[in-house]
Amino acid sequence: MIVKNNYWQWAQWLTFFVSLLVVVLMFNDSFQFISALPVGIGQRIFWDIIIFSAPMIFLIIPGIWRNICPVGYLSLVLTNLKVNLDDKPYNHSRKLLVIGFIVLVLLIPLRHIYYTSIIEVAVLLTTGLIALLSGFIYKSKSGWCNGLCPLIHVEKLYGIKPLKSFNSIYCKTCSQCISPCLDLTKNDSLSNLKEKSMFDRVLFGGFPGLIWGWFQVENHSGLIEFKTIIQTYQIPLSSMLITFVLFELFRLIFNNKTSFSLELVFSFSAISLYYWYRLPQIIEAVYPYSMEVQILRLIILGFLVWWYFIRANKQIAWLTLD
Ligand code: SF4
Repeated sequence: MIVKNNYWQWAQWLTFFVSLLVVVLMFNDSFQFISALPVGIGQRIFWDIIIFSAPMIFLIIPGIWRNICPVGYLSLVLTNLKVNLDDKPYNHSRKLLVIGFIVLVLLIPLRHIYYTSIIEVAVLLTTGLIALLSGFIYKSKSGWCNGLCPLIHVEKLYGIKPLKSFNSIYCKTCSQCISPCLDLTKNDSLSNLKEKSMFDRVLFGGFPGLIWGWFQVENHSGLIEFKTIIQTYQIPLSSMLITFVLFELFRLIFNNKTSFSLELVFSFSAISLYYWYRLPQIIEAVYPYSMEVQILRLIILGFLVWWYFIRANKQIAWLTLD
C-alpha cells in the first residue's frame, strides 16, 4: 500500500491540498473571514469546476482518479502507517457498496434543500472522517475505495470503456482485500461482473431517470417541512424507477444478450442528460449568449456519441498491477 512513484505522489498531494483549500474557501463563503475573496467562490469552484468535470474524468480516465482521489488517499493514510485492523470485509463488502449507493441516491436530491456552504463543508468533512475510519477498520481499499465511497457507483456507471488502464499505485501486489476488485476487473466476457447484479442494474437503469428528475426540481427556499422533502425526492426517485423498469424491460426483450450495449446506452443517457442541463447553468452565469451555449451542448453530445458508440469498444480495467 505504500506509494513509491514520485509523480503519482505529487499528484496525490496536489489534489489533497487543493481539496483542503476548497474546503477553506467554502468555509469562507459562510463566515467571510477573508473579506477580500468574492462571496461564493468556494462553492463555485467546488460545484462548477470540480463536480462539473468529475463525470468526464470518470468517463475517460477513471484509473488516474482512482490513484489520486484525495478522499481515497485519506482513507489509506492509516494503512500506510500500519495502524489498522485489516479486517477483510468479504462477508459484508456488498453491504458497504449498497450503503454507499443509498447515501449517494439520498444526498443528490437533498442538495435542493440544503445548499449553504457550511452544510456542504460539514458533509465533506464527515465524508473524510468516514473514509479515515473505514481505512482504519478494513483492509486496504476494501473499506472506502471499493466499499463505502458513494462515487464508486458513478465511476462504475461512466467508466465502462475508459481510454486506458493505469498502474495501481496503492496495490503493487494484490493483498486480495476484496473480491471481485472493481479496479482490476475487466468488463469483458471473462469478467466476473459480466452478469450484472440487481444492484448494478438499479444503478445503470435508474441513473438517467434520477439525473433527469433532479434537473426538474427547483432549489427550495424558506421553511423546510415534511412536504418539502417529499416534493424534492418525488420526481427524481419516480423517474429513477421509470428508467430502471425500462432497462429491465429492454433486458427481457433482448433476452439479456445485449446487456453491455444496454449499459452503454443508459450510461450515455445519464452523462448526456447531466451535461445537457448543467452546461447552460454554468456558462450562462458568466457568458449569457444562448447560441454559443447550444453549440457547446451539441459539441459535448457529439463527443459522447463518438466515445460511446463510434469509438472501438475497448472494455479495459481501470487499473493494472505491475
Ligand atoms: S488490487 Fe487487490 S489489494 Fe488492491 S484493491 Fe484490488 S483486491 Fe484490494
